[in-house]
Amino acid sequence: QSKENGGNRLEIYAPALSSKRVERFNMENGLRYALERKELALNFQPQVSLATGKVYGAETLLRWNTPDGKTVQPCEFIPLAEETGLIIPIGQWVLEQACIECKRWIRAGMPSLVISVNISPVQFQQEDFPEIVRNVLAATGIEPFNLCLEITENTAVQNMEHSIRILGKLLDIGVKIAIDDFGIGQSSLLWLKKLPVHIVKIDPSFILNMIEDSDDDAIAKAVIEMSHSLGLSVTAEGVETESQLLRLQQLKCDRIQGFFIGRPMDSDQFIAYFMEIANYDEINAR
Ligand code: C2E
Ligand code: MG
Ligand code: MG
Ligand code: MG
Repeated sequence: QSKENGGNRLEIYAPALSSKRVERFNMENGLRYALERKELALNFQPQVSLATGKVYGAETLLRWNTPDGKTVQPCEFIPLAEETGLIIPIGQWVLEQACIECKRWIRAGMPSLVISVNISPVQFQQEDFPEIVRNVLAATGIEPFNLCLEITENTAVQNMEHSIRILGKLLDIGVKIAIDDFGIGQSSLLWLKKLPVHIVKIDPSFILNMIEDSDDDAIAKAVIEMSHSLGLSVTAEGVETESQLLRLQQLKCDRIQGFFIGRPMDSDQFIAYFMEIANYDEINAR
């Protein structure tokens, strides 16, 4: 081809490198240095217990602040981090930093807070993952009950034998396990019986229209009832309105997370958020 066009003309290959691929190439390069350049940051979104109105803990959500001043959302770079294997060092950093922040919160007078961390299927597939978790707990000095690991339904059922073995070891360590995005994966409620997990997180897609759509309401209700009868507790994600909160309270959902009660925020803001709610409690008790 290059002969016909007379010599080594590089530009004839250029169209093959579509703008999508150039973008991906640039992002991959950037992501490779994001950790050492300290461009990654953690946000924390509050989770509140519906029975008490108290703060249960927070979910850790990763952000990437690139040198050109943009904030990249996880849905844009986590898949690339997973394909390239960069999710291993990045995920390790997230786990450590989340536990370090949780230790700060404990020291600030919140000893029973639970920090939740999203775990990629790539991390979960590592045979020594429980060891990694044990080491992070030891290094940061938080108790196992302070940590909840979120894995998606699909991660959990991908390789059942592996999952049951790894989850069993994590259970021995004493950390909590939540099944994330429940309801949209390929698994059935039946798997919940086999998997040693503690918490089910109802996917926001069922919460979004639960007031207007009786099917969504029925699904939320069924997930809550089934989870409870299996001894699991339930967190509803994506709660954006008061009517959703009240309906979930009626359905005896254990916890909620969503814009209605708090957006993702930095660690200092989370401490302030917690203090404010604690003060409300004192005011109400008077
Ligand atoms: P997820 O674990 O299901 O996290 C919940 C997502 O819902 C977050 O999006 C959060 O900002 C968003 N959200 C919370 N409340 C509301 C609400 O009321 N309404 C709406 N519309 N959305 C709400 P975010 O931060 O963009 O994260 C997206 C996904 O990226 C997460 O879904 C999780 O799967 C993944 N992710 C985030 N951080 C990490 C991480 O550190 N490691 C890994 N492996 N994945 C992560
Ligand atoms: Mg999650
Ligand atoms: Mg989720
Ligand atoms: Mg999700």
